Amino acid sequence: MAGIGPGASAALPRIPGIDPVGVIHAVGHGVNAARIGEPVVVKPNIPCGSCDFCSRGSEARCPQQTVIGVHRDGGAAEYVAVPAASAIPRGELDAALAVGMLHSLPIVLQALRAAGDVHTGQTVVISGATGVLGDVAAQYARHRGARVVAVSRRPAPALDGVESIVADSSEIVARVRELAPDGVDLALDTTGSADVASALLGVLGWGATLSVCSASVSTDLRVDLRRFYLGRHRLVGSASADYADIRDAIALTASGAVVPRIDSRYPLATITSAYERFSHPDRLGKVVIDVS
Ligand SMILES: [Zn+2]
Repeated sequence: MAGIGPGASAALPRIPGIDPVGVIHAVGHGVNAARIGEPVVVKPNIPCGSCDFCSRGSEARCPQQTVIGVHRDGGAAEYVAVPAASAIPRGELDAALAVGMLHSLPIVLQALRAAGDVHTGQTVVISGATGVLGDVAAQYARHRGARVVAVSRRPAPALDGVESIVADSSEIVARVRELAPDGVDLALDTTGSADVASALLGVLGWGATLSVCSASVSTDLRVDLRRFYLGRHRLVGSASADYADIRDAIALTASGAVVPRIDSRYPLATITSAYERFSHPDRLGKVVIDVS
């Protein structure tokens, strides 16, 4: 939309809509016709299917992947054609809830699992708690039995079992250290701000990992190399998701373990208003476009 970032090379005109959810209306040659009528979500990133990463089921790391609504037409339309493997069954899961989790929960599952996943007894800090990524990440970490500290610049809605801190990047280290004097076991930055990610490096405990799943705001990460090395810290970059992350995210949402937040819904005819709402500073959760 802004002409920057990974989508800047998209050829225009292009129908947007990175994460469509719907029902299979027709299938192409060689696809099982029994799938017609199946409720599905569409995996936003299309892996190549043949590289070393894809053959290991590590599709998030495929270097050849393309994105629905960026490199080919997306879901903001009555119909969209996608590869059969990208249309993943969602069973009885409500379409709006599926849209709400589709481009957030699988991404944070990938990012947290790349850091060794979340385990009972760990302390996990998650930045960007008012964003869609931070919200579902906090819910997932709590579901996994961790102590969860959620950080945001403005107050986030209360989540049972999650400790919340309102702090900007300059306050994060002191505020998190009040709650976790020995540091945390795992930190996830969902803000895309290098200032926030740099601050999270400062709250890592012994042998801890910072996982980063966005860089949309700024890129100049600062590392105290001595602290990083002596503390046996790890830094992980993570983007997109595996097929397995999508399937697990569907199950987590269907069971109610994670409930994605819906900010608002707009009919396709008012898609411009939907995109305006998406950029509004008061937005809290996913903006859903209803095609039908
Ligand atoms: Zn591949």
